[in-house]
Amino acid sequence: MDLTRLTIREAAKRLKNKEISCLELTSAYLDRIKNLNERLGAYITVCDKKAREQAALAQKRIDSGESISPLAGIPMGIKDNIMTKGILTSCASKILSNFIPPYDATAVKKLYDCGAVMLGKTNLDEFAMGSSTESSWYGVARNPWDESMVPGGSSGGSAVAVAAGLACFSLGTDTGGSIRQPASFCGVVGLKPTYGIVSRYGLAALASSFDQIGPVTRNTEDCALVLNAIAGHDSKDSTFRNIKYPDYTSFLKDDIKELRIGVPKEYISEDLCEDIKHSINEAIEFFEENGANVTEVSLPATEYAVSAYYILSCAEASSNLARFDGIKYGFRASDFDNIFDLYSKTRSEGFGQSVKNRILIGTYALSPEFQDYYKKAQKVRAVVCRDFRKVFNDVDIILGPTEVCSAYRIGEKKDKPLSMSLGDIYTVSVNMAGICALSVPCGKDSRGLPVGMQLIANHFNEGTLLRAAYAYEMGAGGIGLCW
Ligand code: GLN
Repeated sequence: MDLTRLTIREAAKRLKNKEISCLELTSAYLDRIKNLNERLGAYITVCDKKAREQAALAQKRIDSGESISPLAGIPMGIKDNIMTKGILTSCASKILSNFIPPYDATAVKKLYDCGAVMLGKTNLDEFAMGSSTESSWYGVARNPWDESMVPGGSSGGSAVAVAAGLACFSLGTDTGGSIRQPASFCGVVGLKPTYGIVSRYGLAALASSFDQIGPVTRNTEDCALVLNAIAGHDSKDSTFRNIKYPDYTSFLKDDIKELRIGVPKEYISEDLCEDIKHSINEAIEFFEENGANVTEVSLPATEYAVSAYYILSCAEASSNLARFDGIKYGFRASDFDNIFDLYSKTRSEGFGQSVKNRILIGTYALSPEFQDYYKKAQKVRAVVCRDFRKVFNDVDIILGPTEVCSAYRIGEKKDKPLSMSLGDIYTVSVNMAGICALSVPCGKDSRGLPVGMQLIANHFNEGTLLRAAYAYEMGAGGIGLCW
């Protein structure tokens, strides 16, 4: 039996019944990483020794008979913009290529407390800016369904790891779609939780009012298990929402009768590839046949969302990335005349081109003469929120595609940043409104590449998303693994 094919639930059952050991499971993953990581570029850092130590510890906990989390002994990958004590956290940037954090992010700590095993840090677009994982300073990641294709981004490494059997699950981060879009390209499940339910403490900020950490998994049940572990109280994040956190697995019922589903007419537009339209239409039929009420809804501000998102997120990024100055963290230019020269050379040499572009756009948008752009974008953000509020009076869930197309060739859009950004049209509004959404595999296109369906729900309604995705997965049968 290939242990790397198991879901979290299946692996946890075998660990509990002593059919396999934590070390066996971890070794199977480490072996596979050794064989495939150079080809796929999923990990920036692999933590062989730490993984084996954590596996041994998890085994002790299982052997002692204590009541343990289903994540005990389960091997995972963590996106490399999430702090891990004592382990390089580079944000895929030269400027942090020597940065070893002195603390763990809260989400990582919560997973360690459950006994999850850290395999390594996954690849991403530099500072999570991008949609293809091509801007990583450590090189591209490749889509395991077709290695000449991008895996999506920015959490490309996290999606590749889960899709290719290099991690049982992983954490990604989503500022404008970076969990959902690579999940859709790689045929796995990716959830962007409601803003404030997963602590951002220890996440290298891109755009603080949009960022969320979330799970990338092989199926919906695993997604619920990881969300159970990472959601919840943290006094270190002041945007944390003090609600009653449910057991997310309790929503996994194969029943969608009476579920009210809205399909935004703006999402089934001309820009959408035919293959994706076809898959989404089939999914709509599935929901209708199984008793859900599907209606057309409208989110009129959709066409302005990408422009507003880029103005606001670049503004926040320019401010957040000001801290990388060669003094406090990471890389420092070696040859400089004075302090200004030090800042300038460090940042010129340390940041890649797309990061510099965004800092420039953001600084421009925040400069006193041009603040009209920023103010206008904030108004669009308010309208986006109002659109969603209105629609959620009538429906429980919004259904549509995750991306306008499936995976494209590596290099194809590298010099077309606008075309790449416009691909974010269905995902960015969710972050602007702080609500939750997930991408679940929804068939394949004519080239055999995965297609993702996005389900969106109102604040704190992750349970409804999981219920719908689970029922769909059970009914439609999923797309299987790519190896
Ligand atoms: N693709 C989007 C961007 O480039 C989303 C990034 C993200 O979610 N981290 O900004």
